[in-house]
Amino acid sequence: MPRALRDIKGLGEKRLQALESAGIRGLDDLIGFLPIKYNDFTRLKRLSECREGEEAVLRLVLTGKPSQARVNGRTLTRASFCDGAEKIHITWFNQPWMYKTLVNAPEQLVFGRIETRRGVRVLSQPKLVTQIAITPVYKTIPGVPAKQLRDLVGIALEQADIRETLPQTLIGRFALPGRPEALRQAHFPDSTPQLEQALYRLKFEDMLFFMLNALLSKGTEEVGAVIPKNEKALNAFLGSLPYTLTNAQKKTLEEILSDMASPKAMARLVQGDVGSGKTIVAFCAMFVSALAGFQSALMAPTEILAGQHYQSALQLLEPLGVKCALLTGGTPASEKKRIYGQLASGEIKAVFGTHALISKGVEYSNLGLAITDEQHRFGVRQRTALGLKGKSPNVLVMSATPIPRTMALIMYGDLDISVIDELPPGRKPVKTRIVPESKRNSMYNFILEEVRRGRQAYIVCPLVEESEETDAESAIETYRQLAGSPLKNAKLALVHGKMKSEEKDKTLAEFADGKVDVLVSTTVIEVGINVPNASVMVVEDAQRFGLAQLHQLRGRVGRGADEAWCFLMSGETQRLKLLTQTNDGFVIAEKDMELRGPGDIFGTRQSGSALGLNADAIKDTELLYTVHALAKEITASKTPEAIGLKQSAQTWMKDKNEIIFSQN
Ligand code: ADP
Ligand code: MG
Repeated sequence: MPRALRDIKGLGEKRLQALESAGIRGLDDLIGFLPIKYNDFTRLKRLSECREGEEAVLRLVLTGKPSQARVNGRTLTRASFCDGAEKIHITWFNQPWMYKTLVNAPEQLVFGRIETRRGVRVLSQPKLVTQIAITPVYKTIPGVPAKQLRDLVGIALEQADIRETLPQTLIGRFALPGRPEALRQAHFPDSTPQLEQALYRLKFEDMLFFMLNALLSKGTEEVGAVIPKNEKALNAFLGSLPYTLTNAQKKTLEEILSDMASPKAMARLVQGDVGSGKTIVAFCAMFVSALAGFQSALMAPTEILAGQHYQSALQLLEPLGVKCALLTGGTPASEKKRIYGQLASGEIKAVFGTHALISKGVEYSNLGLAITDEQHRFGVRQRTALGLKGKSPNVLVMSATPIPRTMALIMYGDLDISVIDELPPGRKPVKTRIVPESKRNSMYNFILEEVRRGRQAYIVCPLVEESEETDAESAIETYRQLAGSPLKNAKLALVHGKMKSEEKDKTLAEFADGKVDVLVSTTVIEVGINVPNASVMVVEDAQRFGLAQLHQLRGRVGRGADEAWCFLMSGETQRLKLLTQTNDGFVIAEKDMELRGPGDIFGTRQSGSALGLNADAIKDTELLYTVHALAKEITASKTPEAIGLKQSAQTWMKDKNEIIFSQN
């Protein structure tokens, strides 16, 4: 009976280490490692039932011979199928074996996103389905093959002793499945309804405990660090910038500064669409902190983004005497030690980094301001964790994801909200075009023209599969093909998830410095990177992305005053067309939700936790209200059951923080 990972047969030292570095140390951790998405290979549908943009499995028969050709260096396989009533055209790129597969087996189960082009149903890059089941997709753990990970989770589910965490009365009242059953279904669902119930139960529990903590800590808010404004110095700093703040930025900054100057600790969310200029507002607050002798920390979701903030800080803050540092998982041990020392002594005034900022060894001398950027990327509320690091630092959360106000209030309890609802002047909306494969070379020529004019371009390749390996392959392949395209005359570079982080950072730095013209990448650049000189964003296989994600991606260009372009490589679809029609992140987020349907549980969650709280909150409005009411009821109650629940909630929070702390 394996009780620990170590006891599982055939699990070697290397694998154990790989698991450990992903935070998996025991069977319980494996069970808590929920899939990030599912492929629902049971959603067998007829074409006539499929909504535009819906993912489904179709039972199809080939209607004629497939064709195979080389187009712009890529193998293009095309075939027409019929589902008994309706026709559909399917294309595959870079899968040369597909031709033979189809000829040998003309009847296929095919899974993909069904769209319409010029009145004809189409599918691009679908998967061939061999087993009709809902299959879990886990976040890749480098060094552990996907199949083995699935098997390990299966073993853990059999062996571990899964405790119930909610009282029977609640389980009955809300008709929830028990915890062991919910976890089993969340990993290996028997059916969609069972999966939905399981995820509902897990989210219910997470949200309830989360909210109980929020309510319990309410009113006990400690006196925060009081950071006085320094109007004169701040104005000098603002005057040194090459631009003036927009009115929305000014208003937000005012709100932040007056919060910081008041004795109550700040808890504020800044919401602003991509490119609205949240970073400089954060920097102003950090500058004011440093002037008052306090330290500040800015935590970003990726190393790249953290590095970029740090680079900006070196240019903007250090010359003014604010000592800055960068701390990420990739920081060498000796350097880490030095930074820890200088954070403890108070020498470092502004520190930038990833989760490493809240890892165990870090002690601050007097943290007065804690900022998290692109908050929606974090699975759990980091506020507590980063907050724990100071006595009661002022907390600022920055997000590009629009969250309805009432919901944000419920989610964050006492969080105040500032909205930057204005883009810097002179920003022209990114011109977004859908580009069919046949126009690829003319697009390359267009990019080459831009490069000759001194501009730069991104080419983003989609997540092809669940693994970083195959994603990297697709980017590498695209990069190779460029060498045979008109773009061969430009300076090309490649970044993907399999590269070492120093290598990645080096390439990105070169791109930021203008030493690279065209950057091919997997979606690593999705969040926050800022290269104002880049004027073109190409998204390969654009139909594979969600609308909101595409909007984020195109936000990477159009950051200067010049015209910027986003080219979506795809046939024209109704869904993608929306992006060519509006630049409003809020409209797009809503439409995205509407198209996917609120009940879409198959979309990728941001984290492997059931508490993809921020990401899911928009979809889970009703659950949120239910749980909020329940949490209030429990907080007010003195029954043994309520007391037990409050205790469980506190334990839960502690565990969550430990998970956060151990992620480095
Ligand atoms: P986001 O809100 O998406 O994080 P950033 O803070 O990265 O946006 O800002 C995007 C770009 O806009 C940066 O290049 C920044 O220097 C620039 N910027 C910010 N504020 C202004 C402004 N008021 N006027 C002109 N450019 C600005
Ligand atoms: Mg940003």
